[in-house]
Amino acid sequence: MIISFAFLIASVLFIVGIKLLASPKTARQGNLVAGLGMLIALFAFLPLMHGSHGGGVSLWKWILILAGIVLGLVVGAAGAYKVKMTSMPQMVALFNGAGGGAAALVAVVEFAQVTPSSSLMFVVSMLCAAMIGAVSLTGSIIAYFKLEGHFDKPVTYPAQQVLNGLLFVMSALLALAMAAGSHSMVLMVLFLVLALVLGVLMVLPIGGADMPVVISLLNSFTGLAVAADGFAIGNIAMIIAGTLVGSSGTLLTLAMCKAMNRPVTNVLFSAFGKVNGASADAAAATGSVRPVQADEAAMLLGMAARVVIVPGYGLAVAQAQHQVRQLADELAKKGVEVSYAIHPVAGRMPGHMNVLLAEADVPYDQLVEMEAINPEMDRVDVCLVIGANDVVNPAAREDKSSPIYGMPIIEAEKAGTVIVMKRSMGKGFAGIENALFLRDNCRMLFGDAKASLQELVTLVKAG
Ligand code: NDP
Repeated sequence: MIISFAFLIASVLFIVGIKLLASPKTARQGNLVAGLGMLIALFAFLPLMHGSHGGGVSLWKWILILAGIVLGLVVGAAGAYKVKMTSMPQMVALFNGAGGGAAALVAVVEFAQVTPSSSLMFVVSMLCAAMIGAVSLTGSIIAYFKLEGHFDKPVTYPAQQVLNGLLFVMSALLALAMAAGSHSMVLMVLFLVLALVLGVLMVLPIGGADMPVVISLLNSFTGLAVAADGFAIGNIAMIIAGTLVGSSGTLLTLAMCKAMNRPVTNVLFSAFGKVNGASADAAAATGSVRPVQADEAAMLLGMAARVVIVPGYGLAVAQAQHQVRQLADELAKKGVEVSYAIHPVAGRMPGHMNVLLAEADVPYDQLVEMEAINPEMDRVDVCLVIGANDVVNPAAREDKSSPIYGMPIIEAEKAGTVIVMKRSMGKGFAGIENALFLRDNCRMLFGDAKASLQELVTLVKAG
């Protein structure tokens, strides 16, 4: 009774935590609340270890269990403290893969307890958890390496989808055999190996730029695997937590696809990034850029009535969020109206720019969503693009052959003057040229975003 109540409390805390995560103002509390729920669920589960499968838990097993908990807490806390904001997707991929692997292992261990009298529901739940968990484990590991930049482009080969389909059919046949009563561990291991290979082969052909969507999808897989484990071992907290992760991961996947204007099937099967936007690159390569010095840029900003700042991945790399806030404050003192245009996939994770700017206490009411700012862009005097590239690339609207064609962008080019701050003519995540940089109204302020912003702050202050 007490244990069931503890699981109920934990489940409510998970739900409240997710609700709080919906706003940058309450996201930190949301994390803490959900973490507390997980802690309660963890300790509520321990007494259930007694008497499982008829016997008590030996001292040796208790030591192993506690060592596992301590190791998990240390690795989780150290990882979260040390990880750079820009490497957050990699960390999520690894942690998610670990969750999938754990769910698959629980399924295998439970499968070893299957007897001829075990219910079909129990066996099917185990098989689902093993399959989905294993796919999530290896898929997440490949996603991690892709985000780390270990693959230049999507790995494709002839009859790729046919091979994947074949593996899936073989797994399904093995699953049918086991559900029908062949409870052999050899079949289970074979089934698991096929699922592990399938995870690798499913993610290999997907482009690096699509990895956040893939991680979100694999995250929902892990949730479903945990829920299936929960069904099999009759653990309500695992069912609720797994279903929450499964449904929120699916919703996030769909929301990200919507932000990029691409169906999820296109993300999974189009090998995005393989075709490298040749015509866009050719078009963008002709013409020359117009560099601008910091003093002239400061003058343009100081004289503007309205400035819109477009932050991107480079701002996060330079860790220049405090300097951008200082610049906005100095401009505001001169009567300039400043706002920030936030693209849903700017940076390297959903909400990256909101989190970054929140760190510098940028007021939330100055952050404007892409859909709201675009209709006003032609009334903006200066659009200051800081370390953003793909999210302001006009090829997404104008060049049907571009790999990012159809992705909604912030229409920076419509502003009176565009000032782009970046270190070089380097490409963005999609690996394509950006014709915006060659437009007549565009000026390039080359340099590290932090150093350039510091200089601008000093110049605007003095001006
Ligand atoms: P991009 O990756 O398109 O471009 C970032 C730019 O920042 C680069 O061109 C780089 O140019 C510049 N830069 C890097 N370091 C610095 C620095 N220290 N100072 C100044 N500039 C710097 O970023 P966007 O935010 O425009 O677009 C995000 C991309 O990432 C999209 O393609 C999106 O699909 C993808 N993505 C999004 C995720 C999400 O969930 N938000 C997750 C993963 C990928 P240079 O080298 O010349 O300085």
